[in-house]
Amino acid sequence: MKGKGNSMRQSQLFTKTRREAPRDEVSKNAQLLIRAGYIHKEMAGVYDFLPLGLRTFEKVVGIIREEMNKIGGVELHLSALQDAEVWKKTDRWSDDKVDSWFKTKLKSGAEVGLGFTHEEPLTALMREYIASYKDLPTYPYQFQTKFRNEERAKSGLMRTREFVMKDLYSFSKDEAEHIVFYEKVKQAYINIFNRVGIGNKTYLTYASGGTFSKFSHEFQTVTDAGEDTVRIYVHKDDYGKGSEMNPAHVAINKEIYTDDLKKDLSLGDDFIEAKAIEVGNIFTLSTRFSEALGLIYKDESGIEVPVYMGSYGIGPARLMATVAELLSDEKGLAWSEAVAPFAVHLVEIGGDNDEVKKEATELYRELTEAGIDVLWDDRDLRAGEKFADSDLLGIPLRIVVSEKTLAAGKFECVHRASGLPAGRQGRTEHKSISELLGQLT
Ligand code: ATP
Ligand code: MG
Repeated sequence: MKGKGNSMRQSQLFTKTRREAPRDEVSKNAQLLIRAGYIHKEMAGVYDFLPLGLRTFEKVVGIIREEMNKIGGVELHLSALQDAEVWKKTDRWSDDKVDSWFKTKLKSGAEVGLGFTHEEPLTALMREYIASYKDLPTYPYQFQTKFRNEERAKSGLMRTREFVMKDLYSFSKDEAEHIVFYEKVKQAYINIFNRVGIGNKTYLTYASGGTFSKFSHEFQTVTDAGEDTVRIYVHKDDYGKGSEMNPAHVAINKEIYTDDLKKDLSLGDDFIEAKAIEVGNIFTLSTRFSEALGLIYKDESGIEVPVYMGSYGIGPARLMATVAELLSDEKGLAWSEAVAPFAVHLVEIGGDNDEVKKEATELYRELTEAGIDVLWDDRDLRAGEKFADSDLLGIPLRIVVSEKTLAAGKFECVHRASGLPAGRQGRTEHKSISELLGQLT
């Protein structure tokens, strides 16, 4: 049994829709999200999440959290303020080495940084908890705010200077144990991108892995809003087909593309070159951080061994922005059910009619009792304005209550996904409340 739906009356929302996006906002995701009142621009590369945006963001976070917990992740939360000393040990404190640091000073004059990632502090922390092979493996993760002084900030939520990252770290006994988990994360990521609704456009991508492993894997989603170019090895007839990610269709980040690499992976000649955005990545770190920071365990025979590590990132807001880019049309956003801020947009037309108001109130109550999240447009506005707002907000199912639907004895139900590829296109149906409850619960 579901609990009660987390519903809301639109008259309670202080946000308003806007016809125009701010002129300096060039990215589609930020334009749509600002116009629909999901986010507010604080300054270039810095955004606030408004009630609708926060709900969508939390839906994305919820999906990622479920998939992390399924593979044995344990959630924690580390501090944003970082002690310089630990970063000096891995040679990642200097601005010559890492150019995106935000640094500040304590009253004492001591320098501190605002974390742009968390390998160092977590590895240092784990020294207190990992001593023996019996303490391994372990997989802590967090949703935590990172700060990066990014040079470019023109992509809306895709590249911001302050953003929440889901960062998972694996601490394993050896490479063999690491690889088993790495493959599990890969599958968890595939599940995540399928669940939010961008699986068919997302490709497992070979990228540079730094010094310690040959490749890392990026998850790249094809969109014109992308900043990277990837070469996708998929037959033209298969490109963009299906609704889920096909792990057999791989891509190579153009940064590392060579003919040798193509041969190595024994790929065919058919490829498509496309712009894409990195929605997630998985890295083998090996013993780079454990050796530098002294994270050592004793194996079965009492020998001291550095812990074998990996790190795995996803930016939930970048993911939300990618969904907004892909699942939208000229009228506005068109969220997948999994990430939409509400499941149902109940649009009441002519609420000054007592019967209409009564019917809308009753439907709102019944749907909410049945565990459905409903946004009820109870505002006193013209029908045209309400429908335009509803299209812009992009809630998957719109249910209209009006004098007309009262007379017909059925509600008008419109699936928002209009303008999208076949199979997702808009449909209008007429349903009674029992039919609706049967469909939605
Ligand atoms: P990119 O190559 O796009 O700069 P990155 O390789 O620096 O990203 P990581 O440091 O590994 O990315 O971060 C993990 C994940 O966090 C990325 O896959 C992305 O989803 C997200 N992310 C990274 N930078 C940002 C940012 N500035 N704003 C929003 N999300 C971000
Ligand atoms: Mg990258």
